[in-house]
Amino acid sequence: MITTFKTRLVKKKAVAPNVIVFGFQIDPPAKLRFRAGQYLILLVPQPSGVPARRLFSIFTPPSDQKYFELLVEILPNGLAASYLSQISQTAEVVFQGPAGMFTLRQPFSRDLIFLATGTGVAPVYSMLRFLAGQKITRQQQLLFGLRTRAEVFLFEELKELQKQNQSFSFLYCLSREHPTEAGFAPGRVTNELEKITNLPDFDFYVCGGKDVVEALRQYLFGKRVPRAQVYSEKFTG
Ligand SMILES: Cc1cc2nc3c(=O)[nH]c(=O)nc-3n(C[C@H](O)[C@H](O)[C@H](O)COP(=O)(O)OP(=O)(O)OC[C@H]3O[C@@H](n4cnc5c(N)ncnc54)[C@H](O)[C@@H]3O)c2cc1C
Repeated sequence: MITTFKTRLVKKKAVAPNVIVFGFQIDPPAKLRFRAGQYLILLVPQPSGVPARRLFSIFTPPSDQKYFELLVEILPNGLAASYLSQISQTAEVVFQGPAGMFTLRQPFSRDLIFLATGTGVAPVYSMLRFLAGQKITRQQQLLFGLRTRAEVFLFEELKELQKQNQSFSFLYCLSREHPTEAGFAPGRVTNELEKITNLPDFDFYVCGGKDVVEALRQYLFGKRVPRAQVYSEKFTG
């Protein structure tokens, strides 16, 4: 159910150039009950008194109902980005939610491939942490698209997740570099998909900027993946 609730900003941590994790403690007695993959609506105060609304996926798993994090790309002159970057810790921040249909479809009848680009990894990471607690045996593979090694974030966390969950694996696809380290591959996410001969045997969860998500959807449909096996969220402004 969508509700309005107040929080306190308690964490602000830059994880990559222009990407910040913000952590919020929910003012009691409110609790946040959501499904991994859903988003919240941030109400950004405006001089007119009518707040601006900006959507952000929940980065943390649903197990914690009193605290959550957002993974935010700091867009130049972005309203929400400047608001969150400038407010002090413990400042009151108001949200509405949870909302959204980009959630895991159960039971898991196929192995899962997650395709994320940039901060599109936020809802996917929430799903992956949820799945780690479920001990499901279906394989879960993340292909995470970024441009350069300097933009890489979440690497240690994904390695830790892999230790906890034997069914999980990940690969960073760097479109503008030729990395040789384990866990990294050169080129776009589609370069790696090309190596998988049985794409219609998987369920796909795709998230990122709207153009990239649409291109990936069309790619998968072109490889005969049924539409019902492709779930996606497009980050639009
Ligand atoms: C379901 C959903 C979930 C999302 N989850 C996330 C998430 O987890 N993390 C994340 O980072 N993003 C997420 N997004 C995307 C995010 O909501 C948008 O990027 C949002 O616009 C960011 O808000 P902002 O106020 O910082 O930027 P905005 O103020 O909306 O500005 C966006 C860009 O447009 C430019 N701009 C604004 N106004 C103008 C103007 N008048 N003329 C020219 N340019 C202008 C700004 O410079 C900026 O670069 C999500 C989107 C959706 C739909």
